[in-house]
Order: sequence, then C-alpha cells, then structure tokens
Amino acid sequence: MTRQGEPRSARPASEDRDAIFRDGRRLDHAEASSKPLHTPAEAQPRGARLRGNRPVDQAEAAGRFIAAPAHQKMHDERLWDLRQKRDREMHGIEEWEELRALASAVKEHALTHLDAYLEEFEANATRNGVHVHWARGAAEHNRLVHGILADHGARSLIKSKSMLTEECGFRHYMSSVGIEVIETDLGERIQQLDNEDPSHVVVPAVHKLRTDVAQVFAATIGTDPDNSDVHYLAEAQRQSNRPLILAADAGMTGCNFAIAETGTFVVCTNEGNADLSANVPKLHIASIGIEKIIPRLDDLAVFVRLLSRSALGSPITQYTSHFRGPREGGEMHIVLVDNGRSARLGMAEFWTSLKCIRCGACMNTCPVYRRSGGLSYGATYSGPIGLIIDPTFNARKYSNLPFASTLNGSCSNVCPVKINIHEQIYAWRRELVKQHEVPFAKKAAMKAAGELLSRPAAYRAAIAATRTALDHLPDFVVYNPLNAWGKGREVPQPPRQTFHAWYHASRGGKS
Ligand code: SF4
Repeated sequence: MTRQGEPRSARPASEDRDAIFRDGRRLDHAEASSKPLHTPAEAQPRGARLRGNRPVDQAEAAGRFIAAPAHQKMHDERLWDLRQKRDREMHGIEEWEELRALASAVKEHALTHLDAYLEEFEANATRNGVHVHWARGAAEHNRLVHGILADHGARSLIKSKSMLTEECGFRHYMSSVGIEVIETDLGERIQQLDNEDPSHVVVPAVHKLRTDVAQVFAATIGTDPDNSDVHYLAEAQRQSNRPLILAADAGMTGCNFAIAETGTFVVCTNEGNADLSANVPKLHIASIGIEKIIPRLDDLAVFVRLLSRSALGSPITQYTSHFRGPREGGEMHIVLVDNGRSARLGMAEFWTSLKCIRCGACMNTCPVYRRSGGLSYGATYSGPIGLIIDPTFNARKYSNLPFASTLNGSCSNVCPVKINIHEQIYAWRRELVKQHEVPFAKKAAMKAAGELLSRPAAYRAAIAATRTALDHLPDFVVYNPLNAWGKGREVPQPPRQTFHAWYHASRGGKS
C-alpha cells in the first residue's frame, strides 16, 4: 500500500490510474474491486436445464460451471472467504455454542406450538392495525397479493429480497397480470434484469463476475459494457432504480422473524432497501412463511447475534428494521404463507429443516456448492439446505439433489440453528429409494454392493480379483462416456497388500 513510506491515498490521481475518486477523495475501501478485471473470454455458465417434472440433472449443470474456470475460481474463493469471516466472528463470541443451542431450542419450541403462536401473532398484528391474510400455497399467495394491489389500483410494486416469493413464482405471476415488479436489492435486481433466479439465499448474484454484471447492465440500463468498475455499476443501477422506487404504487418485503407476542416483524438487510420498499409507497405488503414465527421479542436477540455473523461474517446487518403497523395514512397487509410447510412439519425426519433462518452458511462451506454454483440445482433453494427442502416440494423433480453432497457434515457444523443437515440429506437418499425415485442402474448397483459387503468371504475374493483386473483392464472400461465416475478421476494404484491381509500377517493369524 505504500511507496517509499507514502500512503497510496496521498498520491495524486495522475500517478494511480486504478484509483477511483469522488469529490476529490479516493475511495480506498473498495480499491481492489475498482481495478480493471482482465478475465479470459468466458461466457457466464447458465443454470440447470429444466424439463417439466423430469429430474434436474445437477451434475450436468455443475459440469458446465466447473468448465468455466474464472467463474468457478471466483465463486469458490468468494464463498470460502465468507466462511472464514464467519469463523473469525464465531471465535470472538465465547458463548457461540450456547447461542446455537438456544436458537435451536427456541425454533423447535415455536414449531411444535406453531398453531398457538400463529394465532397470537395474527391477533396482535390485527390489533396494531395490520390486515392479516392466510395463503395455503403459492397460487393462493399470488392471487391474494394481486387482489390487494388491484383494490388499490396499483400497477407497480417495489420489493425487497424474499426467498418465499421466489418459491411462489411471484414475479412471473405479476408480469402475467400486468403488474411491474422492481427488485430493490442490488443482487436480486441484477438477477431480475438478467432473467435468472437468485443463486444464493443471501448473495443472489454471487455466481457472476463483475464483467457479467457489466454486460447485463449494458443490455438493460445502457451502461458501458467495457466498464466493470463496481462503483460505476452500483451508481448506475441506483440512478436507474431510484425513480422507479419513488414512483411505485406499492411496496413488498419478506420477513426474517415474526414475533408472536408483539405482532411485529423484522427484516434484516445491508442496503436499506426493505425500508424503502416498506416506507416510500403508502401500501406495504409483507409475505411471511409460517415458520418465521418466534415467541417473544427477547428471543430475537439470539437470532440477530447469529444471523449476520453466520451469513457474511459481520457482527450485524446494516439495517435491522422492525415493522409494527401501517405508516401514517397508509395500509399494511401481512400474508402468512404455508406452501408445504405444514406437510414438512409432519415429516419425522425432515421437520427440523423448518428451523432454517436462511443465513446461507451451509452453502458457503459446502465443497459441492462452492464449485458448482447455485443455479446448477435448478431449484429455489440450493446447497445443503436445498437438498433437504427441495424434495419436499417435488420428490421426483429434485430426486438427484440429495446425491450432490459428500456428506462431510461441515454444513451441520456451521448451521446456527443446529439442523442436522447432512443426516437429513442421507435420510432423503433412503427415502427416495423407498419412493422408487432413484434410477434403476443406481439402485441395482447399490443392491449388489450391499450383498457383497454383507458377505466377508465374497468381499475379500472380489477385492483380490479387482486388484488383478485393474492391472490388466483396458482404459476404456473405466474412462468411457457411460461411466460418470471416470470423468476427472484417476483410478488409484491399489496397494500390494490389503489392510486385512497385513493385519492377519502381522498378528500371526490372531484377531
Ligand atoms: S440450514 Fe442452517 S446454515 Fe443453512 S441456511 Fe439454514 S440456518 Fe443457515
């Protein structure tokens, strides 16, 4: 940072061509991100190819992501950086494990008394002057919100990031009924302009290089396609979105936590965009998944301490906004949405996935997610939490996803609400076999392996035969288009002696 002891920020602009200045002051905080990015010519890899109800081929889409080295490297490093920041924050809090246990207990208590807390929330919110609605599924949610907008003659809606509305296909529905939706979260807006879904629950456009964003903005809001400076891009987006925000007829937010005892709800953002969405127009609609309920305001402190640290490795989000009732002269509506949550609550092995607070830590730590990108999952939720939530929506379509995991358990270790994610992924594999949602070849291979592993003599004979066979097998037996295992892997040289043979010999035949 220094040249002969001189701080770079003190150098004149003419001597530092990479520097970004505003009002005569150098913007040092994002220095690295303001330098020109010399990436190889590499198109942004797109997500999984969806074909109706047919199983999503995550491996195929992941293969395309891995084949784009600049994207794959950036994605892996960026998310690992978040994981490391999370670790640093965690080590700074002595009672971290206590907080996790507490958060898990509060959520389990709320979920096992959900009916009572939901009714308490509804009664208190109504007392605060809020209109509360209930939606069984995505279609009902979309129709309800449309009805509210139609009653107010609203034609445009600004909204903050909400995974629930992604679940509901909300934007597509609104466009089909002629209502313009404008995302106010920067990452989410990038994805909207690129006609893509979010690839991560916290950082929706994390799979994109800033040169990709430059291309998207050039095509949609008229920026310079060769300028990928983040200040330039963010400012251009701000200038383009701000008039739309100020002119919008209605605003929509999601919710991080809904508090039963007060009938209030909390939205955590880093851009303040939820506050704009809620406060600029007079009509505010909040879509809230029923699992977001926590019993008391005191419980909130536990989650606020965990959420941002787990998500981004920062002590707190820039904005932790509490919403109680309509602004003066305005109207507030809350839509409480089930969309499969009650059914999941009844699933003995999977109900605790409802504890999820969508921090994304399990995604940031997952070696498969980091290298394959969120869009390869072809579902609203990706990464480890997606592997256990998505099949609850559609077991056939998402039947491949629980196999996109090494089961290393890192996801469970970082989860702030102690969801046993890797165990649930494994449980889903068993469940999918039971439901006949696993390809015949895989099922037959697993059955044969099971038979072999349960017969020690046959197993030892097979090992001996395989060792000999590996010395003589022609390469094409392993490396052919029909054998996915052979892609990117080398068959290891087998040791001359098995562990069993070594043990037997060294113990003189005694066991
Ligand atoms: S499962 Fe846990 S780690 Fe993953 S997003 Fe949810 S709360 Fe975060």
